Amino acid sequence: MTNSIQNSEAVHHDHDDELPVSQRIANIIVILMPFVALISAAVYTWGWGISWVDVVLFFGMYLVTGLGITIGYHRFFTHKSFETNRWMVALMGIAGSMAVEGPVIRWVAYHRCHHKHSDHEEDPHSPHGYGGGIKGLLKGLWRSQIGWIFEPKRVPEAKFVPDLNKDKLIVAIDRLFPLWVVLSMLIPSLLGGLITLSWMGALLGFIWGGLVRVVFVHHITWSVNSICHVWGSQPFRSHDESRNNPIVGVLALGEGWHNNHHAFPTSARHGLAWWQFDISWIVIWAASKVGLARKLRVPSAERQAEKRNISNPTDFRDEPTY
Ligand SMILES: [Zn+2]
Ligand SMILES: [Zn+2]
Repeated sequence: MTNSIQNSEAVHHDHDDELPVSQRIANIIVILMPFVALISAAVYTWGWGISWVDVVLFFGMYLVTGLGITIGYHRFFTHKSFETNRWMVALMGIAGSMAVEGPVIRWVAYHRCHHKHSDHEEDPHSPHGYGGGIKGLLKGLWRSQIGWIFEPKRVPEAKFVPDLNKDKLIVAIDRLFPLWVVLSMLIPSLLGGLITLSWMGALLGFIWGGLVRVVFVHHITWSVNSICHVWGSQPFRSHDESRNNPIVGVLALGEGWHNNHHAFPTSARHGLAWWQFDISWIVIWAASKVGLARKLRVPSAERQAEKRNISNPTDFRDEPTY
């Protein structure tokens, strides 16, 4: 009897909806390793200061890989908010992969699922639904920030990404994900070594431009999932708890205008008001001026007026969910 229970549990753990052990270990390494780097970088900085090379490598890699996520993974691959040429598709896919948030097709599947079921049970990372009070809030924030990555897979991936699975270029970039992760660490190490002509420069490039940068890109991206579904304003009706949060708005390269985004998912511009700083939109707009992006989708003033939150809003779903 005991054996049969053990067997059935073993079968259950082998089931598709559990994360494989290798993936769990990879997740733990990806999340914990940079913290070790952060501490070692802080200790080193305490004694020796930080050089401009480290700062430039950190911000340079932050911008390239962060924009790879916001413009590439998010606004282009997930929401098709503009069109571009095949070279740009490849570059955006590679830059996004270098943020080490998983291969592009899985990322898109999870994010489309988030939009379809936002703040409902099937949402892969909602901060809501964990009970009331400060305890429920903290648990929800933890789950939406990091915890969801360790949960069993709940997203039927293939169902959400038939378009990407048909595109050979995108499938190839997705399969080569480990290579982009290696490049993501190698590029800042090489640059650090070459600029300073020293092994110590290479090591510091690896720490600041590689590991520490990954910590910041990860947590700022994930803050959109957690903070921007809890704190901020809701100028538009969006059928969920999404919020505009100015701090995340700026840090997450324009992605923190998250209520705007849930109201108009296919918009290439998230900071819809002139004062809502959205560097990803500025880059897309600039790319369109030199012929690298076209057919930019932005909601008209009339569409925005129709969806404004008024005192007695009529709830209706008329925008495509992704
Ligand atoms: Zn959201
Ligand atoms: Zn989105």
